[in-house]
Formats: sequence, structure tokens, C-alpha cells
Amino acid sequence: MNDCIFCKIIAGEIPSTKVAEDNMTFVFEDINPQAPIHLLIVPKKHIDFRASENEVDFTIFQHLLAMAKKVAIQKGIEQNGFRLIVNSGPDAGQEVDHFHMHLLGGKKLGRMISQ
Ligand code: 5GP
Ligand code: ZN
Repeated sequence: MNDCIFCKIIAGEIPSTKVAEDNMTFVFEDINPQAPIHLLIVPKKHIDFRASENEVDFTIFQHLLAMAKKVAIQKGIEQNGFRLIVNSGPDAGQEVDHFHMHLLGGKKLGRMISQ
């Protein structure tokens, strides 16, 4: 049984505030926002980036980036800008194994390259 929290959100089994959706991706608000706009951009297919047996599907990455641009426009922050973050593994503090991108914006963000 799949007990992945993001799979459940995508399936509608756990409520979320949906921002956008297409055939490959689902975008919703982070439950613990770190900026005025903090979205999670998630492939509908469960992908564990760290699982070495999984080949990287670049089609999905292209789609996630296209969706990031789309929701930035939707939120009116494409000109002021935003930050995309992927946490992978314990050193990055990854909490949810289902691959996802964070989109942060809505204010001038501090430098976050190394911490
Ligand atoms: P990670 O640290 O894995 O890159 O990020 C996981 C993110 O998922 C965290 O920012 C956390 O706040 C968010 N998150 C965890 N559980 C839920 C949930 O049930 N609903 C929503 N909307 N976000 C969640
Ligand atoms: Zn999943």
C-alpha cells in the first residue's frame, strides 16, 4: 500500500489548497509556508529521486519547470521573481520522498545557498 502523503493529496484523500493542475503535475500550498507564497510543485507520478533504480525522467522535469513559470504568472510574481528548491535526502532535510519542487516568493528572500 502506498502511504505517501503527496500521493494522497494528489488523489484528493488528504485535503490541500490546490493552485494548479495539469495531466502530469499538481501544485498546492505548503502547509507550513516559509514565504508569503510557498507552493509545492509535484509530479502526479510517485518519483523517488534518490532511488538509484529510477531513471531520471526529463520530460517530467521540463513539465515541472513549465508549471513553475505558469503558477508564478498566476500569482503575479514572475517579474519580482521567485526561488525554486529541491531537497534531496537527509542532508538537505527532505521530509517527503515523493519528488517535489518548492516555489518561494512574494517577498525579497534572503540568501539560501548553503543553509
Ligand atoms: P521537503 O522538506 O521534503 O522538501 O518538503 C516537504 C514539504 O511538505 C514541507 O515544506 C512541508 O511543510 C510540506 N508538507 C508536509 N506535509 C504536508 C501536508 O500534509 N500538506 C501540505 N500542503 N504540505 C505538507
Ligand atoms: Zn507519492
